[in-house]
Amino acid sequence: MWRNQQSVRARRSTPASDPWVCQRCGSQAVEVVSWVEANSDSTTECYGSFGELDTTWCGECNDHTGIELRSERRVRLARA
Ligand SMILES: [Zn+2]
Repeated sequence: MWRNQQSVRARRSTPASDPWVCQRCGSQAVEVVSWVEANSDSTTECYGSFGELDTTWCGECNDHTGIELRSERRVRLARA
């Protein structure tokens, strides 16, 4: 989980040429749980694990699907 958080932090400062997508349908309409500081409403650097179903959401599937990088999805589907 910590490794995922590190990768998220790195990803947020890079161009979106390789966006996060839904593991099931490949849509970019995905959301991930984020921690918000209770007293300031500011978003902290701690995020849910992108591979965890209960901390990710796909707006197309309307379900908790898990998300992955589009490049990772291509490799995974090529192996299947
Ligand atoms: Zn989906």
